[in-house]
Amino acid sequence: MALAPLATSFDISCADRAVPLIQNGPCRPPLGAIGAQAKTKGRGRPLFDTLTLASLPAADEALRPAIRALADEAAANAPADVRARSWSGFDPAFSRRLGAAGFLGLTLPRAYGGQERGPFARFVVVEELLSAGAPVAAHWIADRQSAPLILNYGSEAQRDFYIPRICRGELVFCIGMSEPGSGSDLASVRTRAERTTSGWRVNGQKIWTTNAMHGDYMIALLRTSGTSEDRHTGLSQLIIDLKAPGVTVRPITDLAGDAHFAEVFFDDVDLPADALIGNEGEGWKQVTAELAFERSGPERIYSSVVLLDAWIAHLRAVGRNDAATLALVGDFTARLATLRAMSIACTARLALGESPVTEASLVKDLGTAFEQELPVAIGDDLAAHPGEAVDAELYRTLMFVTYVAPSFSLRGGTREVLRGIIARGMGLR
Ligand SMILES: Cc1cc2nc3c(=O)[nH]c(=O)nc-3n(C[C@H](O)[C@H](O)[C@H](O)COP(=O)(O)OP(=O)(O)OC[C@H]3O[C@@H](n4cnc5c(N)ncnc54)[C@H](O)[C@@H]3O)c2cc1C
Repeated sequence: MALAPLATSFDISCADRAVPLIQNGPCRPPLGAIGAQAKTKGRGRPLFDTLTLASLPAADEALRPAIRALADEAAANAPADVRARSWSGFDPAFSRRLGAAGFLGLTLPRAYGGQERGPFARFVVVEELLSAGAPVAAHWIADRQSAPLILNYGSEAQRDFYIPRICRGELVFCIGMSEPGSGSDLASVRTRAERTTSGWRVNGQKIWTTNAMHGDYMIALLRTSGTSEDRHTGLSQLIIDLKAPGVTVRPITDLAGDAHFAEVFFDDVDLPADALIGNEGEGWKQVTAELAFERSGPERIYSSVVLLDAWIAHLRAVGRNDAATLALVGDFTARLATLRAMSIACTARLALGESPVTEASLVKDLGTAFEQELPVAIGDDLAAHPGEAVDAELYRTLMFVTYVAPSFSLRGGTREVLRGIIARGMGLR
């Protein structure tokens, strides 16, 4: 069965720009061949390898075999329910190997240990890691947003100290934005940093802080003057050493039984004067730019892809290839290919030095909707075929993705908030 023709020139952003990215033409190979290709070392990416609707610059594509080999080394022997935990998979040794191989800091200057290759190279590396289900938690946040933030707003001393270590995969950073009562309404944060003779003293609490239990540092949005009613004024970003006296980290267990985020309490935590990033009172502007890094990558379309591959492997194992099943696989494949093309189009904007806030919000909204529909549709499909034996690995993977899927449209900004950004970007509000 061949895929239905997809949009031939889908491009939300860069039709008239310098970087021709979106190639026309059908996805290859046809669905009947799913799983027959990708016989590189390890498991390959049976579904992912069919997503050829959009292409990346050849020089960046050339990174793929090497990063694929590394990702497969880390993940290929793990069961699907472990690989489905790619985002929360914490493996510092693997992150250091990525750093040593030049796969971290791809967008960062060589002067600070980066590769100076740009967003397309990062796109290739991220989609290889996520489609393999490799563990990314030990470098993920630092590489994606802490290092670019420090590069843009930090002092020379901060750049010299933190960025080379991040590029080597040696530092775990956390995002200290949300507080009880301040999530979507981030400008209302109450945790406060007061000036002291030697620097700053922090009191308050953060919540849902991913990786705080493993973290070396948190970049925290704190109130340095005024009250929470002052909204955007009086906010600053400070780097907090999570081993400092007065910091307490209390892990939170999610529905799936995993503890990948935490509450973090600050009780008279003393920080040096140079903990401040950028200028005092400019935290809101900085944090808005940071969120653009968080939302604009390919991260927001692949959260359920290990489950999708596991389900397709099940279809092949039981020999189910009736028209309805192929139509369902075709629908998933076409949507994923289209989302990937949209994500690449956002990356093209980043490569041109722009900040595609509206487009990235659109991809995250559509991408997380797709990621959330997959476990429901796959669960329904398996339930509709009660005579088929479902192996325990697929069942565990389905259970895990089902439990965590609601969080896909919360983390990194909720669906409703993103739709508000999209409406504003379209001039509708
Ligand atoms: C897996 C995961 C990891 C996370 N990691 C981190 C992290 O590392 N660091 C960090 O700081 N935070 C993190 N968060 C927190 C996340 O950013 C917040 O949960 C999110 O911003 C929503 O905030 P909230 O939970 O306070 O919900 P609320 O803001 O109270 O929202 C509750 C509901 O109301 C809706 N709503 C709120 N305001 C509006 C509005 N104006 N218009 C329409 N609807 C609205 C929301 O969309 C949502 O459905 C993480 C969350 C998850 C699930």
